Amino acid sequence: MADLIWFRKDLRVEDHPALTQACCGAAPPEALYISTPRQWQDHAMAPIQADLLERAVNTLAEQLAVLGIRLHHLPLQEFSQVPQALHAFCRRHGIHRIHASEEPELNERRRDQQVIESGLELHLYPGHCILPPGSVVKGDGSPYRVFTPFRRAWMAQLRSVDLTPLPAPTGWQPLTKPAAIRLDTPKHSSELWPVGPGNAHQVLNRFVQQRMAHYQLNRDRPALEATSTLSPYLALGLISPRACLHAARGQDPEALEERPGGAFSWINELAWRDFYRHLLVQWPKLSKGKNFNSLADKVQWESGDDNFDAWCQGRTGFPLVDAAMRQLSQTGWMHNRLRMVAASFLTKNLLIDWRRGEHWFSQRLVDGDLAANNGGWQWSASTGCDAQPYFRIFNPVSQSKKFDPDGAFIRRYLPELAHLSDKAIHLPPESLRPADYPPPLVDLADSRRRALDRFSVMKRED
Ligand code: FAD
Repeated sequence: MADLIWFRKDLRVEDHPALTQACCGAAPPEALYISTPRQWQDHAMAPIQADLLERAVNTLAEQLAVLGIRLHHLPLQEFSQVPQALHAFCRRHGIHRIHASEEPELNERRRDQQVIESGLELHLYPGHCILPPGSVVKGDGSPYRVFTPFRRAWMAQLRSVDLTPLPAPTGWQPLTKPAAIRLDTPKHSSELWPVGPGNAHQVLNRFVQQRMAHYQLNRDRPALEATSTLSPYLALGLISPRACLHAARGQDPEALEERPGGAFSWINELAWRDFYRHLLVQWPKLSKGKNFNSLADKVQWESGDDNFDAWCQGRTGFPLVDAAMRQLSQTGWMHNRLRMVAASFLTKNLLIDWRRGEHWFSQRLVDGDLAANNGGWQWSASTGCDAQPYFRIFNPVSQSKKFDPDGAFIRRYLPELAHLSDKAIHLPPESLRPADYPPPLVDLADSRRRALDRFSVMKRED
């Protein structure tokens, strides 16, 4: 009777509690990856992320083979097929116990529940967060709804628990190189993101050694390489968030002290990541596309299909928004400041429902992640938990002047504007606007007034 380690969005061999547990026996466990392309399409997985996933599964298979563990691939279509197929797999391989990492999304949790109810022995382990959902709560046991007190409680716990990442298991004879695994789903090259063994750790180490100290200063400047760019790896679990925290603390032992500085500021982002995941588990409605704040149910959105298309194509006439959207379509990734600016523009200036933007992002992002994407969109649209207040509306031109002062980022993605002066590039006047660049889609002052009016239904009556 053997153990099975079932990999999902945790495609790594280090700091993997479920894998460590599956390796406790005398014989190596069997390992399994189940692909569900129709389910992924329902979840709007981007072809670029599907490509990264396929490459990561193959790297994992090779790493496991070196450790003496064989990775099997079970191609299905949907989560609903998983229990029956798992039963058959377990019978074939004499498996009596399955180990897997918890996942925070509702459909994934329902799938696991169905596996358990079908009579299989499935053991779930934490690992997708630094501290597991449900473990950071207020004194009365209720969940935090405001980020800053959550982060304080989260950091207080971090100071008192051992977060040393687990090593990869060892001890068995290496196997021969495994055959390639193909995932039958549309794919788009993700070559910008190396996935060889140790690549994610190299990206992490380079960041903490060379850029983390200046993170707070430079993190909002999209033209600079100032952030870690680890999000695609974290989204598929190629590296654990604990490994990120460990590396940051290794570089700066004071990283958890609440004081201005790169390390603290970066760990603050890892706290946001945990926060959104905790919310997703606590409030299942977030996985169903509902507003966190039900007052937002009354906001009347515009259908605006032409405006939506212009936003998607990076042709709004606001250079920073357009450069951001073209960064997304060309690379599958977008800088955080720009995600906020693009999302604010869509939901406030164009008054288009945040769910359409969330879906567009998800279909294109190499780091697509329900918790962070939903959290980011609902924050920007002011519909979320501890969101941006609805009356704070980013001005895309002021944001451009502040965070891309010399237009270096805009020039990179909008070559048609590259010749403009630093002054003109943030909103080219009509006389300088090239024929192939569109005029502004909206008047900023008018659209701001309209948004304030529409969002006023969210005013609390207290
Ligand atoms: P760094 O600045 O180096 O941060 C380190 C890690 O912390 C990131 O890799 C990420 O895992 C996490 N993180 C950073 N900022 C946030 C945040 N605000 N919320 C949650 N986690 C964060 N992030 C995704 O991973 N997937 C998404 O689908 C996604 N969609 C977003 C949509 C919108 C509208 C907004 C405003 C933000 C979204 N984010 C998303 C969060 C953030 O923009 C990205 O995580 C970040 O830009 C990734 O770059 P980085 O790895 O260099 O981050």
